[in-house]
Amino acid sequence: MKINTDKLLMIPGPTMVPAEVLNAMALPIIGHRTAEFGELLVDTTEKMKKVFQTKNDTYIITGSGTAAMDMAILNVIDKGDKVLNIVNGNFGERFAKITLAHKGESIKLENEWGDIAEPEAVKELLDKHDDIKAVTVVHNETSTGVKNPIEEIGKIVKDYDALYIVDTVSSLGGDYVDVDKFNIDICVTGSQKCLAAPPGLSAITVSEKAWEVIEKTEKKSLYLDLREYKKRYDEKKQTPYTPAVSLIYALNVALDLVLEEGLENRFKRHEKLARATRAGLEAMGIELFAKERARSVTVTSAYLPEGVEDKEFRGLLSKKYNVVIAGGQAHLSGKIFRIGHMGTAKEVHILATLGAIEMALKDLGVKVEGSGVEAAKEILME
Ligand code: PLP
Repeated sequence: MKINTDKLLMIPGPTMVPAEVLNAMALPIIGHRTAEFGELLVDTTEKMKKVFQTKNDTYIITGSGTAAMDMAILNVIDKGDKVLNIVNGNFGERFAKITLAHKGESIKLENEWGDIAEPEAVKELLDKHDDIKAVTVVHNETSTGVKNPIEEIGKIVKDYDALYIVDTVSSLGGDYVDVDKFNIDICVTGSQKCLAAPPGLSAITVSEKAWEVIEKTEKKSLYLDLREYKKRYDEKKQTPYTPAVSLIYALNVALDLVLEEGLENRFKRHEKLARATRAGLEAMGIELFAKERARSVTVTSAYLPEGVEDKEFRGLLSKKYNVVIAGGQAHLSGKIFRIGHMGTAKEVHILATLGAIEMALKDLGVKVEGSGVEAAKEILME
């Protein structure tokens, strides 16, 4: 089968992967029970800890972001335990589904999709139910292009017994995350977004407070039991089961690139690209979906212009102009589109995407007043 890889991938993950990261996967496989693999695992884990900004135990998991989300919940709850799931998008909802899958009681704090989760409402619920075992929140709601105030929520949760579980799948390495400063007990991420590694790996951090709970929780999974990962890592610097060795080669190089650029520089780059993307869309008369106070720096969501059909628009963008963007999820399908500007995204990618959007809309007969490229250029040249 011939796959067309000659397109600009501007979806909110998986993202484009640099050649040196891809090349790392061509190395021959080494045994995962060797000292050499142990060194690779420790080196990759230590780099991952730097990106998470944590001293907490950290594990690299062979399995996508959802595996780490599953792991975060199943290791800390028993049947009937209450979990406060903050929901303002598809991935917040996923944590609620995982809670139910493990027979927990999900107390959902529903917020408008497109706006932030309100920290005060979290406090009210924690005061109302004194037996909440954990609070889950998604830092960057990829489904809506919203960034939640995880630092503020962390300040609230730390005064309660509940564990603070945060999904940073589409923000870590692109937006400011400091696991220790934000009091995050369990933080999960994926390889394929801001870290610009291939999909297939995830990572999870575990605080002392979380370990105390985990030790008392009934074992519910063999593959995803955190105690197994801790034991193997502490005793042998290994993973309990065969890891995706080639993906770990790749993640190691991807993390080198992240740390070489520097976290601060990366946050600034993502923030600037986000502003340029928003300005470009607005200049073309396209309405942004996320509320101003809630906008993500790694993904921009916007309403499809009046009369524009999602499949036709994105199909044209991909087939004629070779730019791939994403559509909406759940009830937002057919209503919004999403542009990912994370990982290795640069100025030229934003300009190309905005230019292609303008051409595709014109092809579809939409009257595009201003120039998105011009508006974005102003910001990109700052
Ligand atoms: N959480 C967020 C915020 C995501 O964006 C995604 C994937 O898009 C996931 C979790 C799930 O990750 P995966 O698809 O790697 O299982």
